[in-house]
Amino acid sequence: MSKTEHHHPITISDYNPNTSFINDEAIWDVINHAANPDAALVRRILDKARQCEGLSIEETAVLLQNQNKELDEELFTVARDIKNTIYGNRIVLFAPLYVSNHCANSCSYCGFNADNHELKRKTLKQDEIRREVEILEEMGHKRILAVYGEHPRNNVNAIVDSINTMYSVKHGKGGEIRRINVNCAPLSVEDFKVLKTAAIGTYQCFQETYHKPSYESVHLKGKKKDYLYRLYAMHRAMEAGIDDVGIGALFGLYDHRFELLAMLTHVQQMEQDLGVGPHTISFPRIEPAHGSEISEKPPYEVDDDCFKRIVAITRLAVPYTGLIMSTRESAALRKELLELGVSQISAGSRTAPGGYQEGQQNDDCNAQHDAEQFSLGDHRPMDEIIYELVTESNSIPSFCTGCYRKGRTGDHFMGLAKQQFIGKFCQPNALITFREYLNDYAGEKTRAAGNALIESELARMSPARERNVRTCLDKTDAGERDIYL
Ligand code: SAM
Ligand code: SF4
Repeated sequence: MSKTEHHHPITISDYNPNTSFINDEAIWDVINHAANPDAALVRRILDKARQCEGLSIEETAVLLQNQNKELDEELFTVARDIKNTIYGNRIVLFAPLYVSNHCANSCSYCGFNADNHELKRKTLKQDEIRREVEILEEMGHKRILAVYGEHPRNNVNAIVDSINTMYSVKHGKGGEIRRINVNCAPLSVEDFKVLKTAAIGTYQCFQETYHKPSYESVHLKGKKKDYLYRLYAMHRAMEAGIDDVGIGALFGLYDHRFELLAMLTHVQQMEQDLGVGPHTISFPRIEPAHGSEISEKPPYEVDDDCFKRIVAITRLAVPYTGLIMSTRESAALRKELLELGVSQISAGSRTAPGGYQEGQQNDDCNAQHDAEQFSLGDHRPMDEIIYELVTESNSIPSFCTGCYRKGRTGDHFMGLAKQQFIGKFCQPNALITFREYLNDYAGEKTRAAGNALIESELARMSPARERNVRTCLDKTDAGERDIYL
């Protein structure tokens, strides 16, 4: 592939989309070589990680195979420290919006698979999308993750139309969507260019499993069968000028050690070919889905303890990459994972097209099982989740979308993050957007707890920054909206 220059700062190096950069044998060698690590080695690696400079694949393999519980506690402490140093106590909130469950693929773990004839298929029309967005805006959401099955109905033009509709909805006081991330099937460079015209935030696509034989055994038909086409999705997206991309693996399909090391290999390959790694990494675990036998008993099920270690080790390995967790996890586990390094969560989610409207008309979650992708671990309403974040985790829920709208994306964003500038922009913007939420949408209890947390955060700032942020908060209280640094 030829070297391509773009108007944005990313320069794409030569890469060969016909060759996999995942070498199974090499990954297994690293895993085997790092088996039964001694305590001194684990401690040396933890010490290195404390510097927030990341870890090599070999070092990560050592941490993954530590069996010593005491050292795991030290690992968790380092993960918490890194999370605090780089991200502070902010947590970015978003809601998924399932636009279509029409899908021509047959992923054996997913409720939307084409062979699931029990599923009620639905692709939202523009007015139905509008209604879903209105409901999300009434909850106080500013960020959406738009989700689509892979189907001719969900071609790039239809996706762009749906996103334009989402951005156009301005509902109630200050209601608007300011950033739409997209999770859809991988596209060609040409189609990614069309997708970019919709002013999307992050393009997200998970490899599911990096282990090709396992990949082929769960993707039985449709375009998704092509492992390599998916593996290079982020290369094509970036070549098309989409700066922020998000990768992930669906844990439960293959050995978690292999998946994590392969995902880090993907990060390194992107850094090498594209000059920048992914903006985010997601950690879906297989959840039970109607119409999917394998989802009831995944072949490599990851239990909660193992999942915590995976998140913590990733926080050490790639300290500056956002880690996303969905409502798939229960409230109690989410709380722990937040401390260990997760920086974005979904709240108040539904996984069926039209699910928010259905949810309003019918409180019974079972009513949606015939259209949803999988069952959720956390059904609580947004305000309750926010109250808990504030009072129990001392976290500042952030609705900030400033960086992307100020052009702080891609390698530019990573540069800023690396200089620990997050405190300069993200922390103030989190407080300002949280105040918007508290003024416009919060219940009384949440508002009181939230304002108290904002005051305690202001008290910890330098006098100059505190003055600056207070001015923005005062303007917000006076009715101005969408203020960001
Ligand atoms: N159709 C597109 C694709 O497959 O990339 C995007 C939408 S798909 C619904 C989004 C993600 O849902 C998949 O990448 C997969 O990781 C996740 N997923 C599918 N089935 C799941 C299950 N049973 N539990 C948890 N996550 C699941
Ligand atoms: Fe379709 Fe995506 Fe579900 Fe696979 S994971 S069946 S491609 S919606």
